[in-house]
This record gives sequence, structure tokens and C-alpha cells, in this order.
Amino acid sequence: MRDLSKNAGLVARARKVVPGAMWGHQDAAALPPGYPQYFSRAEGCHLWDVDGNRYTDFMCSWGPIILGHRHPTVEEAARRQAEKGDCLNGPGEVLVELAELFVQTIAHADWVQFKKNGNDATTAAVTIARAGTGRRKILVAAGSYHGSAPWCSPSVLGVTAEDRAHIIAFAYNDTESLARAAEQAKGDLAGIIVTAFKHDLGIDQEMPTPEFARLARAICDAEDAALILDDVRAGFRLHAAGSWELVGVRPDLSSWSKAISNGYALAALTGNDRFRQAASAVFSTGSFWTAAVAMAAGVATIRTLLEGDAVTHMARLGTKLRDGLEGLSQVYGLPIKQTGPVQMPAVMFADDPGRIKGFAFCAAAIAEGAYFHPTHNMFLSAAHTEQDIDHALEAAEHGFRAVQNLHALAAE
Ligand code: PMP
Repeated sequence: MRDLSKNAGLVARARKVVPGAMWGHQDAAALPPGYPQYFSRAEGCHLWDVDGNRYTDFMCSWGPIILGHRHPTVEEAARRQAEKGDCLNGPGEVLVELAELFVQTIAHADWVQFKKNGNDATTAAVTIARAGTGRRKILVAAGSYHGSAPWCSPSVLGVTAEDRAHIIAFAYNDTESLARAAEQAKGDLAGIIVTAFKHDLGIDQEMPTPEFARLARAICDAEDAALILDDVRAGFRLHAAGSWELVGVRPDLSSWSKAISNGYALAALTGNDRFRQAASAVFSTGSFWTAAVAMAAGVATIRTLLEGDAVTHMARLGTKLRDGLEGLSQVYGLPIKQTGPVQMPAVMFADDPGRIKGFAFCAAAIAEGAYFHPTHNMFLSAAHTEQDIDHALEAAEHGFRAVQNLHALAAE
């Protein structure tokens, strides 16, 4: 049995001084038994909890770690910038260097603004779309996650109807529903916001169909509204120039965060010239939005990603993981549903509405040192190796046995 006593002590202390002990989706209490809340260090695709247990990481800090934890080139760039200064009266020259790199790399981008969190970037995109069009309605796919601000939070506690007065829902990949929502907004449509693919929590993931993506573009063109791509989660894992390059559709605005600086706090909003004036006119700022260390990390991260063809590497090892899990599922006669892109796999058991199988699987796998997630998409990184996938599959075998034991118990 792994020792998790130090972790348990920290959870108990936090319960007294942090409401609910932890906020949001990173609350380990919502995960299967044996998932630690607190971590002490990480290297490559491995991380250690505060009790010293080591895990092969398939969450990559929920996306930010794309080159691997503590990637030497990124750490060196960050260290050099930190020696000169981080949070100054304004940005360092690295802001311009990073902005130029974004505009060269992201296909639709003529300009970029930097922020800290993904939600800063999605909220700014919505505001700029409204400012640039002079209209109010924003179409949002039901169930898509764009952040925790009142206009988009999955929780309605503390949110007023007025906060969402001009948000109209449609169903992702459903062209009829998108067309209906656009009809409802006619004359007042500011924009349509879409995630790179359908990566909603706890359900099968779906890539965007070309018909859906083209219709979103066509509606925005016809209405002179903004097509906003929320690439916060998928950015740089599907395509280096923006995720919808895969379907041949370019957005007007796109939101970035997570992977852009390999774990340093940074977000970006990119846009085309149609929205340049609105982006400069909207007042927008944050105390830490010009901090230079994360930007230096961002330059190093994007350059390293482009040089190393990280997308191909993640896709190859993601395919090895997917094939291996499918093979085990057949051996054990336990059907699983593997959806979404292989670089960001979602793995769920068929016929598991209460998540009992998924939880038993993950609890057994984490005991063997593989950190999987039962309901959220996972993340590969450029640091994963064949051996790491082999280890993950050995741990997964323990997971399948645990699910088989559940069946045996149910049959008794
Ligand atoms: N959009 C998407 C698609 C996301 O996955 C997330 C974060 N999970 C956000 C926006 C919000 O980003 P943040 O948590 O950095 O505010």
C-alpha cells in the first residue's frame, strides 16, 4: 500500500483554512480512492506526490505541460529572464519577441494580446467580438467549458440571469441547432465561440465535423460576426498553427493558455485585422499580464515545439496507448470507449453510468503508478516514451483486473 499520510494531513489542515479544502476541478476528493491532492515535484512525464510516490503522468497538469515537466530549454530561458526581472513597470522586450512568434505561427493571427488564464482570454474574446460588431448575442455550445466567469461557468450559483442574458446555446456538431441559434440572434449576433473539439467532461469526445465548422464560419461571414476558437485546452496538441487548421476553417479570434509556456502562467488572445481596432479600444489589463518570465518560457516552448514536431510524437505514443488499451479491453472482455484525438485521449467504460468501473480501473492503475483520469480527457506530452506507455499499460492491466473483480463480486 502506498503511504498517503502526509497528503491526508495537508488535506485536513486545508479544510480549516480553504473553503471545501480545494476548489474546482482540481479537487482530488472527486477522484477515485488513492488520488493524492498534493505534489512535491515533477520531471519529464513523471511526478511525485508529497509522500514521495512516483506517477507516470497522463494529465500533464491538466494540459500545460506539453514538453514535459521542467524541460531544460524552457527552464533555462525562464531562469535567465528571472535573473533580470519578472514583474516590472511594463513588459520586457520578450513581449514583442513572443508576439511576433505567435503571429508567425498561428495561421489566422495578425495580432496577439497576453493574459494569465484561459478564462481571461475567452472573456476578452467575447468582449472584443461585441465591441467590434456593436452587437450582443454570443452563441455557445451547451456543455462546452470556457472558464468559470459568470457568462460561461458550469455552475449557476451566484450567477444572475442578466449575466447570461445574451448567451444562446446550440449543440456542438449539430448544424441544424447552430442554424436555429443563429436565426434567434439575427441582427444582434456578435460571435460564435467553439472549443477545438467536443471535450466536455464525462462524455464521448468528438472532433468537429467539417460541415459544422464551415457553417459556423459561413454564419459569421454572413452576419459580419466573430468566429471565436477556444483553443485553451487543445492548442499546440492538434496542430501547430491552430486546431481548426485540421478542418480548414480559420477563426477571427482565438483563445490560448495551458500549453503555450509549458507550465508558466500565460494566456493569449489572437485575432485578425477585422478585430484589431476593437482589441486596442477595449480596456483590458491585469497586474501580472506583462510579467516577463512566463513570456520567456513561452518563446522557448513554442520554438522547441516547432523544432521537435511534438504533435507527431504525441500522436504516435497516444496511438500506442490507445491500441494497447483496446487490446487489453478485448483480452479481458471489458468494452471501453476511447474518444477524442490520441494526443488527448478520453477513456471510459461502456455501460458504466455510475462510473463504478472507471473509478475501480483508475484506483487500481494509480496504485501501480499510472495517473489516469476517469472522466476528463487526458494529455500526452513530448516527454512520454515507449517505456512510459509500456508502464501505463501494465498499470492498466491491474485496472482491467479490478473491473473484472467487480463483475465477479456482482455475480456472487
Ligand atoms: N477553455 C477551455 C477549453 C478550457 O479547457 C479551460 C480550462 N480547462 C478554460 C477555457 C479556462 O482556462 P483557465 O482555467 O486557465 O481559466
